[in-house]
Amino acid sequence: MRTLIQNGRIALGGRLEDGDLLLEGSHIAGSGLGLSASADRVLDARGCYVLPGFIDFHTHVGDRIGRFELADDYESGTRVAAMNGITTLCTFVTQGPDESLRKALQRARRRAEGQCHADVAWHLTPTTFDEADWVDLGLLAAAGYRTLKFYTTYRGAGLFVDQARLDEGFRRMGPLGTRFLVHCEDDDLLAAVDPGSLDLAKASAHARLRPGDAEIRSVEALVSLAARRGVPLHVVHVSTVEAARHIQASRGSQDLTSETCPQYLWLDETWLDRPDGHRWICSPPLRGDRETFRTLARAGAFDMLATDHCAFCRADKDDWDGRDIRGVANGLGGLGGLPHLAWKLWEADPDRAALELALRLSEQPAQRLGQGHRKGALRPGLDADVVLLDPHGPSRPIQSSLTDAPEPYPGFTSPLSFRAVFLRGVPVVEQDRLLDPGHPPGELLQGPA
Ligand SMILES: [Zn+2]
Repeated sequence: MRTLIQNGRIALGGRLEDGDLLLEGSHIAGSGLGLSASADRVLDARGCYVLPGFIDFHTHVGDRIGRFELADDYESGTRVAAMNGITTLCTFVTQGPDESLRKALQRARRRAEGQCHADVAWHLTPTTFDEADWVDLGLLAAAGYRTLKFYTTYRGAGLFVDQARLDEGFRRMGPLGTRFLVHCEDDDLLAAVDPGSLDLAKASAHARLRPGDAEIRSVEALVSLAARRGVPLHVVHVSTVEAARHIQASRGSQDLTSETCPQYLWLDETWLDRPDGHRWICSPPLRGDRETFRTLARAGAFDMLATDHCAFCRADKDDWDGRDIRGVANGLGGLGGLPHLAWKLWEADPDRAALELALRLSEQPAQRLGQGHRKGALRPGLDADVVLLDPHGPSRPIQSSLTDAPEPYPGFTSPLSFRAVFLRGVPVVEQDRLLDPGHPPGELLQGPA
């Protein structure tokens, strides 16, 4: 099957070119002006940007976190993703108590198999570190699982790892080509906050319980540890101006990347003051001074934008005693908003916005995921993951999830629509509509566990 996408404005290696893009089966075949190849299918992309499929590097779906099952399973999560041009979803497998990481991964793969409207890749979170666990991690790295996620907080949930353990991970796994994703909040600094000094019935207390200093201190420590060991470090969900600046200043001399999320760009801590402010509880918390943060983002301080989508159903998010916000399910939705809220940063200059999306929502995450040989660009030979993005309105409300999870961006609208989305050459979306919900074509990008 040959598909010819005509008259689009195509993102090619950091520049835009007006012309046509040819897909051959599941791959990109080429691009140019007035391609006259005989095609089985011809699509008019006039007025659209033609971009490589987006990749959300950081989402939580199909899992249980704390007391609750997440609102989105693999099917609904990848559905809202595909409908918004996200053709690869990265999510997490966390080793539970009394199970191996491999067992947890096998369970996740079973849940995802045949359910996904986008391709899926996993980052792995180990929680025990016996000799057998390290051997297993080595085997999983060989099967394509080369991103590990660690937390410098959440002692209670069994996720916390100390500096010595991180250092051991860096030493053992670094040589296998592993990239380290770290949630940076210094747990000692968080523990030093006295909850007794706060009105815990107010959602705003959440921001006081997790001050920005904890992120800054942890980022500084991790950046220097990774530099000492010479391993690639990716700091997830940066939320403070100071941490962003520290990363920016350090990345010239080491393989250091970072992401921020739309909630840290477009929402500030005043959302926590609403009567239903608990619905905006996430970690790191929403903070003040977002104008400076957006200026940093526009100037390229973050290699990628990802959502940390972690949506809970309305009833679960609202299930707390009204007295202590520490009991609120911790996380926000965001998947469906990603391209819209990223676009908004550069909306005054649509060409620039299109190129920034191609870079920060596709090329960068593809490379950091170790999938640059398949994803992240419209080069001949790569997977034909292609987005026809129409920026010309009409404006519609942002919909972060298709479940009944509370919407974190009420009142936010976007002029973007998706004329078509291709996943490995298969048209999955046309005019914002999922074409064949009954036959999800998504693949699991890494090998069997
Ligand atoms: Zn997360």
